[in-house]
Amino acid sequence: MTDKVVGVLGEIFTDLLRWIFKKSYSGGGQLGRMLAAAASLLNIKIVILDVGEHAPAKQVLAPTSTQYAHIDGSFTDQARIRELAAKVDVLTVEIEHVDANALAQADGCEIHPSPGTIKLIQDKLAQKQHLQSRGCPVSDYIAVDSTVESIHAAAKKLGLPLMLKSRTLAYDGRGNFVLRDFDEVPTALAALGNRPLYAEKWVPFTHEIAVMVVRSTSGEVRAYPVVETVHKENVCHLVFAPLRTRDATLSRRAQAVAEDAIKTFEGAGVFGVEMFLMDDGGLYINEIAPRPHNSGHYTIEACETSQYENHLRAILSLPLGSTALKVPSCAMLNIIGLSSSMDEVTDLTNVALTVPGASVHLYGKSECRKGRKMGHITVVAESDAALRTRLRVLLEALPSSPI
Ligand code: ATP
Ligand code: MG
Ligand code: MG
Repeated sequence: MTDKVVGVLGEIFTDLLRWIFKKSYSGGGQLGRMLAAAASLLNIKIVILDVGEHAPAKQVLAPTSTQYAHIDGSFTDQARIRELAAKVDVLTVEIEHVDANALAQADGCEIHPSPGTIKLIQDKLAQKQHLQSRGCPVSDYIAVDSTVESIHAAAKKLGLPLMLKSRTLAYDGRGNFVLRDFDEVPTALAALGNRPLYAEKWVPFTHEIAVMVVRSTSGEVRAYPVVETVHKENVCHLVFAPLRTRDATLSRRAQAVAEDAIKTFEGAGVFGVEMFLMDDGGLYINEIAPRPHNSGHYTIEACETSQYENHLRAILSLPLGSTALKVPSCAMLNIIGLSSSMDEVTDLTNVALTVPGASVHLYGKSECRKGRKMGHITVVAESDAALRTRLRVLLEALPSSPI
């Protein structure tokens, strides 16, 4: 099938976020872990570069020889990047907040998606400008300086509430500030740490939806089914697939918006397209991730080819797999840490083991923290009614329900 070796650049996020937020959130490693699990089924060799010696992705794939040993190191370390590039045929990423310039300098291997795509997407303002210039639907936004005057001017133009966003290094809403009053501008600036910012008009969406799209090295794009994502406090808690709607055209329209957007980027792999659904059926793209995405975890159990396997197939120029659903109804529940204790995670997992159709994925993170994604549970069922019954058991096991 293929002898090519894949290198995956894991998080460098921990250090950067420690610096910015004075906290040590980590980028995770779960996406790399699930990518490695998919690779193992196809005998595809994977080498992980990650600061953590026991990072989630490294735990699931023992190197087949010393030649393919995982690398402990930061993505900002040029020497480690060269070391990884020398071992592999294709480089890919599990997180977009990498040093795209350093990636572009990696010689002797293909890089997917292209460093240019990663650089464009990692700057949310540049991403919005790119999408708008290509005719993709995005809501109003404006570039701002990190000054009171500039933000006042943006709020006067776009109205309140105003969504202030960090252009870079954002995830799980860390980097967003909802400005509800002009008096809050200094608080917003303090919270966002004088980072490069831009402002978005507040979007009164009725639902958030998402579509994974896989793009081959020849530019072919295939959309996965449209899913509904349920967020609480900026964090995705639940995903439902397929999208249930009375609008017969919605799924196809949303897939077309997502496919058209991904056609504008260079490089292969899967991309996550987050969208806002409006009351009148209109759609706006919120943001795009150039990698496997939380809203696509469900594809492991519910689709004919998971997002992880299709990412590998795409970057290795193998035939793309079908993106069709293979179950009538599916939900994915993120297991999010409630405290530093693993007890709640263990309790929920134990309940999930009693639910038919539920598959537990734990990420092997050494420490639990409030708000940290520790794992997820996918539930499949033969009907929406059966799914609701199964999901209810899990939701009742949570201290507070996300819906
Ligand atoms: P992640 O990468 O983890 O998805 P992020 O930090 O990049 O998150 P966004 O996706 O930009 O953040 O925003 C997080 C959430 O905030 C969205 O899912 C949505 O619920 C809300 N949100 C974002 N932009 C707007 C907006 N312009 N108007 C209203 N709500 C918004
Ligand atoms: Mg984001
Ligand atoms: Mg988002």
